[in-house]
Amino acid sequence: MSRLVAIVGRPNVGKSTLFNRLTQTRSAIVDNTAGTTRDRQYGMVEWCGQEFSIVDTGGWVVNSEDIFEEEINKQVQIAIEEADVILFVVDASTGVTDLDDQVAAILRRSKKPVILVANKEDIGDARFNIPEFYSLGLGDPVEVSSANGSGTGDLLDKVIEDM
Ligand code: GDP
Ligand code: MG
Repeated sequence: MSRLVAIVGRPNVGKSTLFNRLTQTRSAIVDNTAGTTRDRQYGMVEWCGQEFSIVDTGGWVVNSEDIFEEEINKQVQIAIEEADVILFVVDASTGVTDLDDQVAAILRRSKKPVILVANKEDIGDARFNIPEFYSLGLGDPVEVSSANGSGTGDLLDKVIEDM
């Protein structure tokens, strides 16, 4: 059976853009409106002769304030249950948010390998926020830009190592 990598994180951090970048498709719906990805998107990635499946989990998140946290927690629980490696995406341009803290706490308790992905490194002052992400207790953030592809090769190397 093929290995599964799940992409989790709060809305608008760039999960679908990362999914599209890694699978080199345009199949996940990317939009400025939080919660635009409606269905779970599965794709295949091949890297250095290894193949794995990847899932964009944004589909569980509904753009409604009151059920927001609950939906994200559900998304993360399912990822913990079914994935071999979890990519936890955060937004380097905004730094750590309360929701990031909550998701990190759940992920730290799981026994799954988690790779912390600091996306949007291409945005102006994003690099100054990177030290904040160490407070999530999930190790070194891997800095990427899903928009222009920078850092994604290093990310894929790390995924293969952790599988
Ligand atoms: P999701 O809700 O986590 O799936 O986020 P999306 O992939 O839909 O992206 C949300 C917004 O961030 C969109 O406007 C994307 O174009 C933008 N975005 C995603 N990744 C990057 C990136 O690496 N750099 C920049 N500058 N924008 C990005
Ligand atoms: Mg999405």
